[in-house]
Amino acid sequence: MPRLSRMSQRGYQFLCRHIVLILVSLLCLGLGIGLAGSYNLSVQLVESQAQQYASVTANTLNQTRVLYSENVVQELQSLEGVTISPEYHAIPGGIPNPATFSIELAEQLSDRKQGSLVKLYSDYPFPNRASTGGPQDDFEQEALAYLRQNPSASFHRKEKVGDRLTFRYAEAVRMKQSCVECHNTLPSSPKTDWKVGDVRGVVAITQPLDSVLLIAQQGLRNIYAMLIVITLLAIVGLSLVIGRFRLIHVELEEKVGARTAELNRLVNLDGLTQIANRRHFDQTLDEEWRRAVRNPQSLSLLMCDVDFFKQYNDTYGHQAGDDCLRAVAQALKNSAQRAGETVARYGGEEFGIILPNIDSDDAVKLANLIRKRLAGFQIPHATSKVDSFVTISIGIATLVPAAGGSCEALVEGADQALYEAKRLGRDRHSIWIG
Ligand code: GH3
Ligand code: MG
Ligand code: MG
Repeated sequence: MPRLSRMSQRGYQFLCRHIVLILVSLLCLGLGIGLAGSYNLSVQLVESQAQQYASVTANTLNQTRVLYSENVVQELQSLEGVTISPEYHAIPGGIPNPATFSIELAEQLSDRKQGSLVKLYSDYPFPNRASTGGPQDDFEQEALAYLRQNPSASFHRKEKVGDRLTFRYAEAVRMKQSCVECHNTLPSSPKTDWKVGDVRGVVAITQPLDSVLLIAQQGLRNIYAMLIVITLLAIVGLSLVIGRFRLIHVELEEKVGARTAELNRLVNLDGLTQIANRRHFDQTLDEEWRRAVRNPQSLSLLMCDVDFFKQYNDTYGHQAGDDCLRAVAQALKNSAQRAGETVARYGGEEFGIILPNIDSDDAVKLANLIRKRLAGFQIPHATSKVDSFVTISIGIATLVPAAGGSCEALVEGADQALYEAKRLGRDRHSIWIG
């Protein structure tokens, strides 16, 4: 389960990092599918139009033949002087029989220049068409064989004729009652046992597709160009938006980082004196203690307490008391400035100074310096019993931290020393060595 969530997290990170690439790939894929789809659609449309035209032409030809046979030939054949024959051109008073009529109509409908061809053929052609009336190529052979099996269906396919792509279509020509009577009695008929519904032959229509496809492809090229431009614009737009989001993200991260740093600073700062607070003091002492355990060296702590501060407040007021605490903090801060030294407000009018790698001699020097500096401030304290200015007492504790010990020992030692300094009369320091 955690592995799964790690994987999905990694997947999400990958998505975020490569979002532009992924979106561009998806857009290109969509474009490709769109282009292929529109090409297929155009080919299908051209084919279906060709099929429809061929079907209508075949139907027209069949209907015309039937109409001619039933309404013209049957009416005229009993008239004297009228001869119905495939060779009607050479006979005075001759008119074409229905098959010849249909074949000639088909030729009229053909446009050889354009490459379109309408023709009728049969495997039983009349003798005058013996050489041209039968199937002439594979398509015509296959269409005839297929339509014999499926007389009411149609047979069609695309194929190259010469160097042109064409659509070829075939439908069966079937025997009607009027056709059967004539065909079975005509002396030149190649077959005389026809029945109604028999497949007499095939009407075949060939149409070139290349010119129509060319027009469709020209139209498609315009659509492709438009789609590519739209996709490029979409990619540019997306990149700009994502770029903007990334910029905002970076700016926000910077702001959050700065705020967090400021909050961290404030969380460790004493509001009144603007030096480190008790929280920071505890944390730093613990860290320094552990550092000194790892790398044995002495650690000193100074606990400073303002003398007779209650009386100061009582004499000068709480506001002045606050100012006095700020001044004391300043004196401490100005004195302990070496790297690693931490001056903090411990609580009330008490301050702590953590001194890593400082032995008791140096700690005493610092305590003296602090008291001298505070004395230099000459803050009047009329009700102090030790001096006419504000003074402090300092408890100094020094030890080399040992594993298993606790920094509380150092605090207790400094407290004891401070108590001792107070007991001995204040405005002084006292030392506790662990
Ligand atoms: P000692 O010499 O024994 O240290 O006596 P002291 O009067 O200094 O000590 P005590 O503990 O009796 O009084 C400390 C006083 O410090 C009491 C309290 O009102 C005052 N104090 C503590 N925090 C603040 C503060 O933030 N501002 C002000 N103005 N006074 C404070
Ligand atoms: Mg105190
Ligand atoms: Mg005090």
